[in-house]
Amino acid sequence: MAVKIFIATDQLDSVLEKLATKIDLWIPALLKEDKSGPTGFIPYEPGKSPVFERQTTLPTKKLLLPQVETLLRFEYKKDPEGGSTSSIVVDDARQVRPTLVFGARSCDVRALITMDRVFSQGPYVDPYYVERRKNTFFATLVCEQNDSKCFCSSVGGGPADMEGSHLKIVKLDEGYVVEALTKEAGSLLEGLGEAVDKAKDTKAGKIVKEASKRIVGDLDTKGCAEAFRNRFAQNDFWVQMVSQCLSCGVCTYVCPTCYCFTITDETQNLKGERMRSWDSCMFSQYTLEASGHNPRPTKLERYRNRVGHKFSYIPEKYEGILGCCGCGRCIRSCPVTIDIRQVVGNLKENSNEQ
Ligand code: SF4
Ligand code: SF4
Repeated sequence: MAVKIFIATDQLDSVLEKLATKIDLWIPALLKEDKSGPTGFIPYEPGKSPVFERQTTLPTKKLLLPQVETLLRFEYKKDPEGGSTSSIVVDDARQVRPTLVFGARSCDVRALITMDRVFSQGPYVDPYYVERRKNTFFATLVCEQNDSKCFCSSVGGGPADMEGSHLKIVKLDEGYVVEALTKEAGSLLEGLGEAVDKAKDTKAGKIVKEASKRIVGDLDTKGCAEAFRNRFAQNDFWVQMVSQCLSCGVCTYVCPTCYCFTITDETQNLKGERMRSWDSCMFSQYTLEASGHNPRPTKLERYRNRVGHKFSYIPEKYEGILGCCGCGRCIRSCPVTIDIRQVVGNLKENSNEQ
C-alpha cells in the first residue's frame, strides 16, 4: 500500500525541518520581502514558509540546469626544463546531492519530458544534467490555483497530472495529505506527519478527482507544426505577431523548457574554469557568427524561431513531444504582453494565404 501521511498546517515547518535532515530540500518561496513579488525555488531554511498559493515566477529549471555552472577546472603545467606549456590537468567539477523539490506543480515536472529528451536520450547525452536528474525528486501539488494564463491541458498535461512525480501533495483546509508515488519516496516520509484518517483521505480524493476533470486552456495544438511551416515565410504575419517585442529574453529565462546555453572559459594565469550559463535565442548576438553574418538578424526571425522550436521543430524531431508545458510563465512575464497562445492559435488561421 502506498505510504501516505497528513501534515497539519501548523506542523508543516517542523516536518520540513525533519525532511531536510534526510535530503537537500527546496521549496517555492518569495524571492523578495514583498508578498506579491516574484517567487522561485530556494533551499529550505527553518521558519521560511513555502508559497503554495500561486505558481512560482521562476521554474525549477535551475536545479537541473543551473543558470551558471562550472563544468570543469583546468590548469596548464609548464615543462620545468624548457618553460613551455606541456600538459593540462582537468578536474571535473561535478557535485550532485540528492534533492527534493517540495511543492512543484505538474507543469514543472511535465517540462522535464522535453528536457530529458534533449539532454538524456541522445544523440548527445549531457552527464551533468543526467546525474542531477537521477538525484532530483519532485513532490508535486495537485494544482487548484491555475489562472487565465495557464494552458497545461492543451499540451498533454493537467492540474492533477503526476507523470514523473515522486510524491503527490493535496492541500486541504487543515493541512496537507502527502502520498508517495514511488518506493524510494515512501522512505522519505517515514517517521513524518500523522496517519491519514478516512475523512481527510476522502476529502483529498475528491480534490484530486475534481482537479483531474478540470480542463485548463483551450489552445488546439493539433497541426501547428505544419501550420508553422506554411507561415514560415509570411513576414507580414510575423511582423503583426511580434512587432512590439523588446528582445529582452525574459520569456526564455522564465521558461522551464528553454535550455539554450553558452560556454566560456574564464582563465587567470595558467588556471581556469569552463563555465556554462543560460543564453537566450531572443538576443541579437545569439546567432551572430564570427564572420559578422547573423542568420536571425531581427526580432521577427528570433521570435519565429522560439515558436517554431516549441511547436514545430521539437515535435517533428522528437516524435510528437512539444517544447511547451503550458505553464503560462512567458505570458505572465512578458513586459509587452505577447501571448504565445495567440501566436500559435493564429498560425492555423488561413495559414495557406500568401
Ligand atoms: S513557452 Fe511559455 S507557456 Fe510554454 S513552457 Fe515556456 S514559459 Fe511555459
Ligand atoms: S518577454 Fe516578450 S518582449 Fe521580452 S523577448 Fe520575450 S516576447 Fe519579446
